[in-house]
Amino acid sequence: MISLLELTLPELTRFCAEELGQSPFRARQIWKWIWRKRARSFAVMSDIPLDLRGRLTAAASLDRPAIAAREESRDGSVKFLLRLADGGKVETVLIPSSSPDGRPRLTLCLSCQVGCAMGCAFCGTGALGFSRDMTCGEILSQVLLARDFLGDSAPLLRNLVFMGMGEPLLNLSQVLRSLEILNSDAGLAFSHRRITVSTCGLPRGLEELGASGRACLTVSLHAPNQELRAALMPRAAAWPLPDLLATLRSYPLKTRERLTFAYLLIGGVNDSPEQARSLAGLIAPLKAKLNLIAYNPVPGLPYRSPAPEAVLAFERVLWDRRITVILRKSRGADISAACGQLRAREFTTIL
Ligand code: SF4
Repeated sequence: MISLLELTLPELTRFCAEELGQSPFRARQIWKWIWRKRARSFAVMSDIPLDLRGRLTAAASLDRPAIAAREESRDGSVKFLLRLADGGKVETVLIPSSSPDGRPRLTLCLSCQVGCAMGCAFCGTGALGFSRDMTCGEILSQVLLARDFLGDSAPLLRNLVFMGMGEPLLNLSQVLRSLEILNSDAGLAFSHRRITVSTCGLPRGLEELGASGRACLTVSLHAPNQELRAALMPRAAAWPLPDLLATLRSYPLKTRERLTFAYLLIGGVNDSPEQARSLAGLIAPLKAKLNLIAYNPVPGLPYRSPAPEAVLAFERVLWDRRITVILRKSRGADISAACGQLRAREFTTIL
């Protein structure tokens, strides 16, 4: 049985023509039910003839992952643990924020792989290892589930970030398919400016993602030099930092768009003023801004949060060197919102 959540609009149009003998008009109706009205069954598609609904039910599915657990943080973050059809588990986090004019809005942090093969030393997901890539339909189900959960507040969900479990460039074909449906006005209707793909920075796929123009790019540095990066992000550092930065200099950017770098501040590891100066030297030649995030400790891993004064001193060094810095709040610390933590804990309780 085919899942219609896995099909782009041209593919759904072909499926309707070849398998059901239906017109492109019917395909667009079904598409609207799936992505705009978030239908969970063909039975509710009231403008589709009854016999066609029956044939759709026999030939196709709209199944989504199940919510296996949900936790709400004091800061308003909501973390979902999702169970996929084969039993794999991934996380999705809804994060509250506000627009520049103070209006409330929400960002959804999406996973794109079950586990992760990158093995970053500080990361709970990295410690769990890699199981498999998520499909386009599994990736997009996270958005459908979040909108269903929000109900009347669904329009507040304005931004998406691929920053959950997995490395997007290692599952680029499914990520690009999901971006096509996210960007489509008749689909989930998120502008490319409201979607961020966050990567460790791998040569494979970076050019293709840039050429697609379907999302903004964030590159995780987490270290101001190759040696420390190799210790914290051993697999990502196989592509030397100078080569990564040289490639990013020619990354295609749209008008007024800038690259974003992410730097996780880990207490006593990468948070000294000297390291801030080195980091500024790396970033200054690029059209880029920097997101600084204080680390949330992961049980079982030997890293700690930075002292608040170290964070402020680090930020000041960067501002003094004219680097645009955004200090991101660590959301959901009380529900283990750092990547991999909810899943790790749930696994220990079940196994
Ligand atoms: S930080 Fe990201 S890329 Fe690194 S192991 Fe964790 S999920 Fe993978």
